[in-house]
Amino acid sequence: MKNRIYLKDLKDNVGKEITVAGWVDVRRDQGKMVFFDMRDMSGLVQCVVLPSHAEAIEKAKEIRPEWVLKVSGIVNKRPEKNIKQGVLNGDVELEVTGIEVLNKAETTPFQINENTIGVNEDIRMKYKYLDLRTERMQKNIRMRDKIITFFRKYMHDNDFIEIETPIMMKGTPEGSREYVVPSRLFHGQFYVLPQSPQQFKQLCMVAGFEKYFQVARCMRDEDTRGDRQPEFTQLDFEMSFVTQEDVLNYTEGMFIELIKSVYPEKKISQVPFPRMSYAESMEKYGSDKPDLRKDKNDPNELAFCWVLDFPMFEKTDDGELQAVHHPFCSIKEEDKEKFIKGEDMFSIRANAYDLVLNGYELSSGSIRIHERDIQKRVFELLKISEEEQQKKFGHMLEAFTYGAPPHGGFAPGIDRIVMILQNEPNIREVIAFPKTGEGRDLMMGAPAPISEKQLKELGIKLGK
Ligand code: ASP
Repeated sequence: MKNRIYLKDLKDNVGKEITVAGWVDVRRDQGKMVFFDMRDMSGLVQCVVLPSHAEAIEKAKEIRPEWVLKVSGIVNKRPEKNIKQGVLNGDVELEVTGIEVLNKAETTPFQINENTIGVNEDIRMKYKYLDLRTERMQKNIRMRDKIITFFRKYMHDNDFIEIETPIMMKGTPEGSREYVVPSRLFHGQFYVLPQSPQQFKQLCMVAGFEKYFQVARCMRDEDTRGDRQPEFTQLDFEMSFVTQEDVLNYTEGMFIELIKSVYPEKKISQVPFPRMSYAESMEKYGSDKPDLRKDKNDPNELAFCWVLDFPMFEKTDDGELQAVHHPFCSIKEEDKEKFIKGEDMFSIRANAYDLVLNGYELSSGSIRIHERDIQKRVFELLKISEEEQQKKFGHMLEAFTYGAPPHGGFAPGIDRIVMILQNEPNIREVIAFPKTGEGRDLMMGAPAPISEKQLKELGIKLGK
């Protein structure tokens, strides 16, 4: 729009006639005058329409909240007694000289100029594009962008490069069910969506990139479980020729810098972050994600801690053996003998670590296996047959025979980080278009049936 200025820049235009554009926030008629607040991506301003502007006042009487307007007016200083200190445009207002209605709006299902945290969540989800207009949601999504921008810059400043890895793949074990995508060209064959880029990032190390990262979407088909989303975002990274100490120090430095530069009002309770073993944490706190805050009511307290030496193997509720983290974690030197002999399996520890913040698991990671025989031994202990090993992980085993460097990494969950830093009660509040606990998108209506024609093309027959 020609000559349009943002509301945040009004203060630099006092005394001038300018044009702004945005939404009507609220309207108040006061006798012969009309007042309304305009909103754009940068803020709010009070607009005043005086009876002397006959055409404008007629239009102003018609307008309703959420109508889209182009408004011309003169930026005036507010009278001293009406100045609102510390608020954007608290000291200026717009004397409207012209209004052009760009679009009208129906009455919205909830108030846009109020916090929607108390509004029925299904309704907020159905009208997500309206929920996102509210001040709190705008802030959450904009702060999320700031945090991701910080991470990208920090990674680049430390010589990492961002590499996009496939979304359609063959699956990587992270302990959940996978989402599957049918292949049209190969009936009866399926891609799966990544639970994480784990294998690809390790293969990037074999490929010689040495420092990889990705703001990576991960998909896990889990049963409804509290605050889970079927897709979520990780700051996934991997480094070659590093020890556990290197990964911990790098990560710790990054989080300290994030808080310092993006949330300076917050306080980290203990630096360096306290460390404890998994065994200690379980014994002392009965949990592997202890909440070490001194005052749980202080919204600015951040209690990070490291939990180290996770066990490598565990038994599932159905008595099946599985890797606690994933089967690519390396084994602690002290436990190598037991590992080779296959003795006392559940006491074998991995070089695997978690970062915990205020009682939430922020991230898991490990130093990986980079030798074929050791990787095979893990699969053997997990009772994965030779044939299965080749079918599922043949490419990893093979890659390890071509000069795989020692490597390790980490993958902090971005949704949780933003949630905690924004003091929100769940991750849905910091994801622009989240799904319900059951994995539904109530706005678009997904998941949804597909047509008979599509099913046929895919070679799929639905069971009754
Ligand atoms: N892929 C792992 C996860 O999603 C993280 C890692 O080991 O780097 O938890």
